[in-house]
Amino acid sequence: MQIAANYIRLREEIPDHVTIVVAAKTRSVEDIVEVIDAGATDIGENYVQEAELMRNRLAEKAKAIRWHMIGHLQTNKISRAIEVFDVVQTVDSMKKAAALDRRVERAQKEALSVFIEINIGSEFTKAGIGPDEHEPFEPYMERLVNEMSELSHIRIEGLMTVGPRGGDPESSRPYFKRTRKLFERLAALDPPNVRMLYLSMGMTNSYQIAIEEGANIVRIGTAVFGPRLCN
Ligand SMILES: *Cc1c(COP(=O)(O)O)cnc(C)c1O
Repeated sequence: MQIAANYIRLREEIPDHVTIVVAAKTRSVEDIVEVIDAGATDIGENYVQEAELMRNRLAEKAKAIRWHMIGHLQTNKISRAIEVFDVVQTVDSMKKAAALDRRVERAQKEALSVFIEINIGSEFTKAGIGPDEHEPFEPYMERLVNEMSELSHIRIEGLMTVGPRGGDPESSRPYFKRTRKLFERLAALDPPNVRMLYLSMGMTNSYQIAIEEGANIVRIGTAVFGPRLCN
């Protein structure tokens, strides 16, 4: 019952307006059942096939959960991804946004909620759109969001960032701050079909700082389940 106790303690500690997305990678079905029974509402998966497997095994229990794609989305998995996920947090190019849009249209599903993945200063991951490739960054993002807003089968609802991993969690603060500023700048643009509602940042070692800097979604694995044996 350790997992349930961990989740309940986190839920009590974290303010109500912040959604906890439980990061499920490497965890067993039993672990996920325990956390759902303890009240978890949102699950994050890094791979389409693992999400499919988990949803199948959970059967009825899976239906009450919001499923988030938090890993790198491969173009050849998009058709399956839109069947499995309620939210894709990791859109990192116009090309991928357009591919998602086409697939959703073809499948005649309602518009899919997506976040744009931002990569400010993470050496850990190459995923996400960042200032390294796009300077000046903020104006670039404004143009990108305007362009994406024309896709009517996806709904841009937020930003997601991983930020630097490991080390002193305080070192994440400047990256979270810049992502929050960008979030507000894009929200102020207010293009049709875009509603900047969610700012997804912070993991086990950094969620407190992320919340201080304005996150309203945190993605947490280790603090719920304990350390992972592999990534
Ligand atoms: C694994 C993972 C998390 C959770 O990480 P923990 O440090 O275990 O809390 C959050 N976000 C993403 C994208 C992940 O892959």
